[in-house]
Amino acid sequence: MNRESILGCLPQCIERYGFTSVVAEKVCTWVYRKRVTSFDLMMDIPKPVRNDLCSKFSISLPSPVEAAESVDGSVKYLFKTDLGNPFEAVFMPTGGRGTLCISTQSGCRMACSFCYTGSMGFRQNLSAGEIVGQVLGVPRASRVNRIVIMGMGEPLDNFNETLKALDILTASWGVAFGASNITLSTIGVLPELQSLIEMRKCNIAVSLHCPFGKGRAKLMPSEILHPILNTIELLRKYPVKKPLRLSFEYLVIPGVNDSQKDAVGVAQLLFGLKSHVNVIPYNSPEVADKENAKAKKFQKLLNKLGVPATFRQPRGFDISAACGMLAAKSEGTV
Ligand code: SAH
Repeated sequence: MNRESILGCLPQCIERYGFTSVVAEKVCTWVYRKRVTSFDLMMDIPKPVRNDLCSKFSISLPSPVEAAESVDGSVKYLFKTDLGNPFEAVFMPTGGRGTLCISTQSGCRMACSFCYTGSMGFRQNLSAGEIVGQVLGVPRASRVNRIVIMGMGEPLDNFNETLKALDILTASWGVAFGASNITLSTIGVLPELQSLIEMRKCNIAVSLHCPFGKGRAKLMPSEILHPILNTIELLRKYPVKKPLRLSFEYLVIPGVNDSQKDAVGVAQLLFGLKSHVNVIPYNSPEVADKENAKAKKFQKLLNKLGVPATFRQPRGFDISAACGMLAAKSEGTV
């Protein structure tokens, strides 16, 4: 009989094989929290039950097939799915701890014009096990204290597996991360976004990039199906409640979306909405905005209009690990 991989299982999934809820939670705690990879080490479970578990489940953490370290200390890890499709995670150290950026799909269907992951097309959805596996499988796993779901893919386009992964990451029997230490970035897929807000499992970041529908559609074809106006209306109706936070990402492409008119558009669109804007310089191998000067200028424009906005320093640029560059090197597109 083929054993099921325990990674990605919720306790209910273990109970389905006839184990009690107590045993199921214990197993999850050993695997996700204590990061044990052998049933024999689960000392609070009787030996016959451990043998039974072992005959039905396997425990193996995925390990990256390649790693590249940036001069700024960030490390990009390349993983492969069972079908051989690539996905990546990026560890960004800050002091003794660090943020891990994880993927939810191999490739992406959204085809944003500025994003390298988009240019590789869609390969496959990752399973909850593969999503959580990035958090447990990277070499510096014990140092990770923040998770950003901002790697390859659109998480709300792989909603069920992403939700399962969020359950495992936040549950007390799971990885036990605080919801406010996890941020999920999305182009704004409705009604999944509403469910996610109501479940209160993470902070929400919405990729804005242009306040006007027409201009946004040129950068993000998904605007046609998922207009930003609908997303904003939803966010006003279902506010992200404290301690969780709502933010918007604004990628500055010099000469395209960084005019005074754009800044006023952002201020009007977000007026009264409790949130802040993360201004991101355009990460491109051709480096359009070398000193990040244009992005910083746009951030100041927003601040002057009363919009809380911060500048996000790119990390891992030299190893193509900065926002939107995942897949650039592993796929040979650079
Ligand atoms: N699909 C999700 C999450 C993945 S991308 C989303 O779009 O939100 C994470 C962030 O990186 C998004 O805001 C995305 O728009 C941004 N990004 C993509 N390509 C980029 C690039 N070349 N430079 C800077 N940011 C980029």
